[in-house]
Amino acid sequence: MRVSIIGTGYVGLVTGACLADVGHDVTCVDVEPAKVDAINAGRAPIHEPGLPELLARTVGRSLRAATDLAAAVRDSDITFIAVGTPAAEGRIDLRYVGRAAEQIGAALRAKPGRHTVVVKSTVIPGTTDGLVRERLEAGSGRRAGVDLGLGMNPEFLTEGQAVADFMGPDRIVLGGIDAATRDVLAEIYAPFEGAPRIRTNNKTAEMIKYASNAALATMISFANEFGRLCSVLGDVDVADVMKGVHASAYFTSRLQDGRTVKAPITSFLEAGCGFGGSCLPKDVTALVAQGRQLGLPMAMLGSVLEINATQPDELLRLVRKHVPDLRGARVALLGIAFKPDTDDVRESPAFPVIRRLREAGAVVTAYDPVARPVSHPDLEGVHLADSLAEAVRAAQVVLLVTRWPEFQGLPAELAAAGIEPLVVDGRRVLDPAGFRRYEGIGR
Ligand code: NAD
Repeated sequence: MRVSIIGTGYVGLVTGACLADVGHDVTCVDVEPAKVDAINAGRAPIHEPGLPELLARTVGRSLRAATDLAAAVRDSDITFIAVGTPAAEGRIDLRYVGRAAEQIGAALRAKPGRHTVVVKSTVIPGTTDGLVRERLEAGSGRRAGVDLGLGMNPEFLTEGQAVADFMGPDRIVLGGIDAATRDVLAEIYAPFEGAPRIRTNNKTAEMIKYASNAALATMISFANEFGRLCSVLGDVDVADVMKGVHASAYFTSRLQDGRTVKAPITSFLEAGCGFGGSCLPKDVTALVAQGRQLGLPMAMLGSVLEINATQPDELLRLVRKHVPDLRGARVALLGIAFKPDTDDVRESPAFPVIRRLREAGAVVTAYDPVARPVSHPDLEGVHLADSLAEAVRAAQVVLLVTRWPEFQGLPAELAAAGIEPLVVDGRRVLDPAGFRRYEGIGR
């Protein structure tokens, strides 16, 4: 099928490259010419394992990038909207989705025949059948459900494993205003055999995405609340407690041959620095705002956000146990990306930690194996090291924020530098035995 995708970020580009690889003809559209040029030259503008190989196979054949939205829409049968939906002032900012729908609507005026538009961006329930439908109908002069298909197909990929997730999905949600729209979506996804299909209306499709993300965020704040209680109680380590929780048959299956299989959700039931990234914080915020707007206080999700917002204070508390006055203290912060295997730093817990350190007068050096944000207000005055060795060379305190495997080399680097700084493990991935002074979150 001929596919156009509006918005070529983490979701748009991975979707486009994967659909092109399974036999569709795809044009990825973006307003940023640099991104478009990079893709057309076969270069991935983001760090995502497997993406360069995918681009090498598809660019110039079944995949191309362009800035001309109208032409891409006219030359396709189906258009996905994959633009950003950030949070602004505590609620979802739908301006990019609204603008994209407006532009697609205008482009459809000049196109004969039926066309299908599908929202892939994460949008609060009601957006597809509301704002998007209005803009599309006004621009195109068509009617959704008559000569215009209108669908909602949320994306569940995880950055750092996005290509693998897209190619081997755990579920495919086919939301549509009518059966014809869902049938078109089903055809698009026909090559992805094996994954369960959920055929539903647009609002349910939108809500499935929010409920999925809210469940993950809740698990994280749940574990962090226990971590705090463990730290205060003493003689109880949240890592041991969570191991005991994971062992429950609800979380770990025992196979007939006696082997056990831990459910992936257990990785969210671990104390750490809190959740970040471009999805969980903004999605939970958007949902709480929607509830508030509808007169329904979302008390539980409000607490999930509050625990997350104050989790960086836990790290600072651990540092201050050993270094009460941080003025002039040299702190090495390990990890800027919000999770390993990505260069995405949006809403990374590293930033609130850096802010608090700098407010306390610390001199911060930060290091990430991949993420090198060119400009970020929280990184002003922060030295960005080129290697782990450089980052920790003169550190009095080392703070681990992101679970990059490279940081397992920390004991060797400290030994090579001949120093014994305080090590604060914000992810509980280091072996305390490797350090003279060690603090772990929830320990
Ligand atoms: P992103 O910021 O990486 O990409 C969005 C792209 O859209 C940008 O390149 C921007 O230039 C482009 N754009 C904006 N308006 C445009 C327009 N009118 N025409 C053409 N291009 C336009 O965002 P993302 O991380 O890919 O997320 C996109 C959506 O998918 C969001 O709603 C997000 O919540 C959702 N989502 C993201 C992930 C993830 O892990 N990143 C996972 C699942 C769902």
